[in-house]
Amino acid sequence: MKLPEEFLRIMQKRLGDAFPAFLHSYETPACRALRVNTGKISAAEFAARAPFPLGERVEWEQSAFYVDGEKLGADVYHFAGLYYLQEPSAMCAAPLLEVKEGELVLDLCAAPGGKTTQLAADMGGSGVLIANEIDFKRAKILSQNVERMGISNCAVTCASPRTLAEHFGAIFDKVLVDAPCSGEGMFKKEESAVLEWSRENVLGCAARQRGILDCAANLVKAGGRMVYSTCTFSEEEDEGQVEDFLRRHPEFALLSMKKLLPHEVRGEGHFAAVFEKQAGETRRIKPCKISSNSDANRAFSTFSDKFFGEILPTDRVHLGQDRKMSLVPAGMPQPSGMFLFRLGVELGEWDGRVFKPAHALAMALGNRAARKVVLSREEAKTYLRGETVENNLSDGWCAVCVEEFPLGIGKCVSGTVKNHLPKALRLYHG
Ligand code: SAM
Repeated sequence: MKLPEEFLRIMQKRLGDAFPAFLHSYETPACRALRVNTGKISAAEFAARAPFPLGERVEWEQSAFYVDGEKLGADVYHFAGLYYLQEPSAMCAAPLLEVKEGELVLDLCAAPGGKTTQLAADMGGSGVLIANEIDFKRAKILSQNVERMGISNCAVTCASPRTLAEHFGAIFDKVLVDAPCSGEGMFKKEESAVLEWSRENVLGCAARQRGILDCAANLVKAGGRMVYSTCTFSEEEDEGQVEDFLRRHPEFALLSMKKLLPHEVRGEGHFAAVFEKQAGETRRIKPCKISSNSDANRAFSTFSDKFFGEILPTDRVHLGQDRKMSLVPAGMPQPSGMFLFRLGVELGEWDGRVFKPAHALAMALGNRAARKVVLSREEAKTYLRGETVENNLSDGWCAVCVEEFPLGIGKCVSGTVKNHLPKALRLYHG
């Protein structure tokens, strides 16, 4: 791989004696890792039943392991949301936010969802996580990853940082800004990062990050924390950006900075800075308006009585204009003026008469189902191919699981489980 000469000159000047080691790091393949979804299974338990070899744990994220294998995104456990494949050094930023249960957290530049799903695992299902992505197509992928990982307390929005700052104001306990950057840490993984690199692009990224950070600053409440991260090494986007930010925002203090470089750690490199907002106003949270319909709630209760073996409360069940019903996380602020991909758990659709469960319901709540079809890993491949499976469960909706982990929804009819896995997710070719 031919790295940009100007990039190399800058790095040589910065790193001095360490430059040959830095250069040498580009001769090895890119590091890969898998982060276990501790919302579904502990890292130790996953390690005990992983169907492929796992390497050492990632030093800064104890639920992650280095991996070598190909096609890990096509494994049954991946479909079940037991893990997320993520570049290891990218895992260093989210833990710095130190999210606590019950907090209101914003991931401002969130697609495809590596750090969102990491934050969600750390939050343990409590509090509210808003994962935002400005790009519509990328926001859709983010939403699919949130669904696959079975996260119940997350709303996925598609809006600009400015829209969010104007609408929400300073309400968040924690804000992550994983900014778009010149991607110098992506050179091994994506050739386009090398081809697109130029000094102009670095400076352009720095200007864009400045704008995003100014919006983010307005979203953090007094006493709240913000983490700014990039996967690049340039001074202008990293340490220089931090200095500039502190000059413009004296209400923030810098708590720490971390820079992982590819010749010093097993990873492609990342930068993160942790800030605390020490002054400023905190805006009152406007609670999310729940739009409900008693007929729709009755239809859902009839379903939940059979499916879960109990009638779930409907006080947070929202009926959208598209007739989709969602279980809104407690404490969710009103998300007006932005495109919403997901408002908590999509439960299903009400057609005016009956309730039809969604795939997302199985992924987030399927482990609580009283009606389950439990498949082996081999049998699960049949379901993932979109085929029917045989089972002697009585007629009705059921959660289809691989071992104890939900994979989706099915409907038993006379001993056959009809496959309701969304067509777009039937990607299994293994
Ligand atoms: N946090 C993600 C993860 O861990 O998977 C990676 C985020 S990526 C580094 C940066 C994201 O910022 C991209 O998805 C990109 O679409 C988005 N972005 C691009 N321009 C933006 C802007 N002006 N404001 C906010 N986000 C932007």
